[in-house]
Amino acid sequence: MNTINTIHNFRTWRKEITGSLGFVPTMGSLHDGHLSLVAEANKLCTHTVVSIYLNPAQFTPDEDLATYPQNLKHDLKVLSQFQINTIFIPTDSEMYPRGYSTYMQETQLSTVLEGRSRPLFFQGVATVVAKFFNIVRPTHAFFGEKDAQQCLVIEKMVSDLNIRTGILKVPTVRDADGLAVSSRNLNLSKSERDSATIIYKSLFLARKLHSEGIKNANFIKKAMSELIRSVPFTKQDYISISEPSNLKELDLIECDALVSVAVFVGKTRLIDNIYLNSTD
Ligand code: AMP
Repeated sequence: MNTINTIHNFRTWRKEITGSLGFVPTMGSLHDGHLSLVAEANKLCTHTVVSIYLNPAQFTPDEDLATYPQNLKHDLKVLSQFQINTIFIPTDSEMYPRGYSTYMQETQLSTVLEGRSRPLFFQGVATVVAKFFNIVRPTHAFFGEKDAQQCLVIEKMVSDLNIRTGILKVPTVRDADGLAVSSRNLNLSKSERDSATIIYKSLFLARKLHSEGIKNANFIKKAMSELIRSVPFTKQDYISISEPSNLKELDLIECDALVSVAVFVGKTRLIDNIYLNSTD
């Protein structure tokens, strides 16, 4: 396994590579969700590159950059089970050298949901992903459906800017009790971890109500909200039921829908989503 820390060395390595190159960008503290992306890249591409970079540009000063879990030793160990050609671990000064002043902005999909709650988030994500795409030049890049809005924003950026990387989406990996695995789960206390299962339960409730024929989005959102409020440590940020392709809020669920939630469990903010199909 080859670990590279500089853009220069990465480019030197990349020059020699032919065939398909699958890229998995991560912020580290790797878990089974990340590893499912790596497994998919390995399956579909000749070469796999994983980046580990906690991107400061996507956090506002009042968010959790300082407490975001990091464990490089663990990350290298879990990645050693895979056929990975290169792990790219750049430093902040490589990615954002002194005087850095260019940021990428998707202006529609990124204004709602996560974008409304986290004003710098998508600008930071789009910027770092665009930079990585220029450095890594992947033929394919792998993103998790757990961050459904992020997938849409990246797909839009790639389409708008004529970037030649194919974007592949991988289903959300969950713990046995339904909680989506996430690096931030490590910051939950035992009792907060217990409460956090309500997030998936609320999504599951949405699916159940929808399958029983309820089409009124507000009715479903209210039921989800009451359920989330019923357990300790939780504070709802948003619940949304939207059109999956453009994130427009729905009043009536007449075709497929994306149900998205963001909930604080203690100080930890978690997000999750589920798709409702018209055939459910
Ligand atoms: P992060 O390190 O949180 O920025 O995530 C890196 C990539 O892993 C993103 O594409 C995420 O959507 C994806 N990811 C995070 N959690 C999960 C999960 N539970 N299942 C599948 N993919 C995930």
